[in-house]
Amino acid sequence: MNERFESLLEESVKVHGHLCAGQVLGVRMSLLGLREIGINDPKGADRKKIIVFVEMDRCATDAVQSMTGCSLGRRTMKFMDFGKMAATFVNLRTGMAVRVLAREESRRKAKERFPHIENKYAGQLEAYRIMSDEDLFEVMPVQVQLRPEDMPGRPLSRVVCEVCGEHVQDSREVRRAGVLLCKACAGCGYYTTEDASLCVERYAEKT
Ligand SMILES: [Zn+2]
Ligand SMILES: [Zn+2]
Repeated sequence: MNERFESLLEESVKVHGHLCAGQVLGVRMSLLGLREIGINDPKGADRKKIIVFVEMDRCATDAVQSMTGCSLGRRTMKFMDFGKMAATFVNLRTGMAVRVLAREESRRKAKERFPHIENKYAGQLEAYRIMSDEDLFEVMPVQVQLRPEDMPGRPLSRVVCEVCGEHVQDSREVRRAGVLLCKACAGCGYYTTEDASLCVERYAEKT
């Protein structure tokens, strides 16, 4: 791989904290995705033109962030908890979007390239540097529906959950039987509290 790739990888390793196969894969995935949607300068002139969806919370995700400059905090990175080694790159100006999926066979091919390397991750790290885009990834043109409330910028809405009283931004509330609820109170929560039944009881009172 060339000098540019090495310096991009170095940058990503700095963000991530270590060099790993995921960094190499994430940098390559991003280079390919950005090229496919016609973005040359994601962190400069093109920075307002791009949104990326990542389908994994793994090493490669940090590489995608480092490469694209997209982040959750800027609302330019969307995390879809699918557990797949894939990311979708969207050009907001042209509407063009591609989903780049790491091929499952690339793991086996990596092993074939460096059969003498015992540690499979070390072998992958080396192989992912030199394997072709075609060997590493599947690229699929896709359409992505982005709603105004998903875009960067100030929150478009802010409402109060009628059960817990907490504020909900960006139209993430749900309405059940005429009651406005946050996702936690609607039963889509990820945490429990001492009085876990409280929300359910309060909701029952409301309806
Ligand atoms: Zn890592
Ligand atoms: Zn609530």
